[in-house]
Order: sequence, then C-alpha cells, then structure tokens
Amino acid sequence: MLDSNCIFCKIINHEIPSKLIYDDNDFMAILDVAPATKGHVLILPKEHAATLIDLSDDKASKILVLAKKIIAAMIKVHGFNNYNIVQNNGKLAGQTVDHLHLHLIPRYSIDEVGLWTPHENDPSVTDELAKKVHDLIQN
Ligand SMILES: [Zn+2]
Repeated sequence: MLDSNCIFCKIINHEIPSKLIYDDNDFMAILDVAPATKGHVLILPKEHAATLIDLSDDKASKILVLAKKIIAAMIKVHGFNNYNIVQNNGKLAGQTVDHLHLHLIPRYSIDEVGLWTPHENDPSVTDELAKKVHDLIQN
C-alpha cells in the first residue's frame, strides 16, 4: 500500500518524475537526485514501509538479490570495482525519507564520501548486548 504523503510513493505512482533504472511488481530503482557519487541508485519497495522492521519478509528477502543484479549492471556501465550498499533506518541514522530505500553507491578512486569513524570497543558493554540479542532471537 502506498502513502499519498510520501515522496517515494509519489515517485512509484509516477506523480513525480524520476530517472528510472529498474521497475517490476515489487520494486522500483531510480537515480538519486542528490547522489553521493556518480551513478548513485536508490531501490524503493512498492509498499510503504518506514524502516526494515516495517517491510514485509517477502520484500526484505528479495531486495538484496535485486541490489546484486543492479550493481552488476552498474559495474558494466560505469566500470567501478568498489561500492557501498547502505540502508538507513530513522533520522539519527541519516534516513531523510521515511520510506525504506537501499542506496547503491559506486566508489571511485577519488571521492570524498565518508561512512563512519570507528570507535574503541568496550567488551563489558558489547558482550552483554550480544548475549541479550542472541537470547531474544535464538531461544
Ligand atoms: Zn512511501
């Protein structure tokens, strides 16, 4: 189901034009209007889901397979060998449109795209977190 107030739903519904890369019953892929690098693509599921948790298992299981297919075509066209696949969930994580989308970002020898700064690990915190998450999903 689409949301009439969502800019990505409007793109999927062809109310807003886009540079189409791919289209099927489940997904649309378009060029990002504010690309991190040349050829930056967004994959949009054709159901309004704000984050990964909200996305159906069916679409969640298909989206990475589609990403692989599109990246392979992008590599042939653009000739890059490195890329990021990024999916932000929530404003603090950098999500700017509340409709789940996967970023396919080609990386070239000279670009200024940063991701994150690694921090020192605190085992007293991470060991407990790992155990709690493991116990919740495995037991
Ligand atoms: Zn939407």
